[in-house]
Amino acid sequence: MIVFVCIKQVPGISEVRIDPKTNTLIREGIPSIMNPHDKHAVELGLALKEQHGAEVIVLSMGPPQAEEVLREALAMGADKAYLLTDRAFAGADTLATSHTLALGIKYILKDYPKDEKYLVVCGVQAIDGDTAQVGPELAEELGIPQITYVFKFELKGDIIKVERAFRPEETVIIETKLPALVSVLKEINHPRYPTMLGIVKAYKKNTEKLNAEKLNAKKEQIGLTGSMTEVWKIFVPERKGEHIILEGKLEDQVKQLVEYLKEDNVI
Ligand SMILES: Cc1cc2nc3c(=O)[nH]c(=O)nc-3n(C[C@H](O)[C@H](O)[C@H](O)COP(=O)(O)OP(=O)(O)OC[C@H]3O[C@@H](n4cnc5c(N)ncnc54)[C@H](O)[C@@H]3O)c2cc1C
Repeated sequence: MIVFVCIKQVPGISEVRIDPKTNTLIREGIPSIMNPHDKHAVELGLALKEQHGAEVIVLSMGPPQAEEVLREALAMGADKAYLLTDRAFAGADTLATSHTLALGIKYILKDYPKDEKYLVVCGVQAIDGDTAQVGPELAEELGIPQITYVFKFELKGDIIKVERAFRPEETVIIETKLPALVSVLKEINHPRYPTMLGIVKAYKKNTEKLNAEKLNAKKEQIGLTGSMTEVWKIFVPERKGEHIILEGKLEDQVKQLVEYLKEDNVI
């Protein structure tokens, strides 16, 4: 059994800055990290390796420096890493990203028996793009069942049984057969830290690079040309209001608050 784990490299800060002219992220001087949700995806893969002997293959689509996050996953214990990198992949929206990742998975699967069972694991969302679309779109591309927002996971033979978050305080239990894709919430596990030995081993392993030609990708389905999304403008909303600190006794504060709310026609 193979567990494919999709990892995105993201800016390591909580507030991204946008270039107002190009509507793109300002990446200069910003350290990049593994998308935090994806660490939980790697950990699920490693648990399945320990419990069921699964092979853990990590893959990322991104610029050459995205290799860093793959090395981190190798240091945690992943078996193989693939970096999908090509200028032709640049500017991909979620649709083009998931199409490219699907091509990568199909390319890797060619080396395995036709009936090889596999699971694809994604983080629930990337902390920069935040759309949570890549997992579901990737499952559609691969033509396999998908279960999102998973926080409990069990594998018996080729059946997976998961618990997924639904409405607040509601859980859905779902079973499906492999192959399948799950996107995981951080509640699912505690990701391990890479060990010193793991880090040394990670630098001895190769990350295979896959470009558009190797994946036999069609120009109109990848990168900017394959993207259906057009970003017109990205901006941080201007702060319009100001804050007021109410002072005095609680009763006086309540009276002041009521006055302010009346002034603003809230009540
Ligand atoms: C501010 C901003 C502006 C952007 N502008 C544009 C634009 O103008 N045009 C454009 O085409 N695109 C643009 N993008 C990029 C693009 O839309 C997404 O970042 C990218 O397609 C992935 O979507 P996501 O980040 O929402 O991932 P999500 O769907 O939230 O990610 C879910 C999971 O999918 C997996 N995953 C996601 N991306 C990858 C990856 N690259 N490699 C491996 N696994 C992955 C991970 O497991 C991740 O946890 C922009 C992104 C941002 C943040």
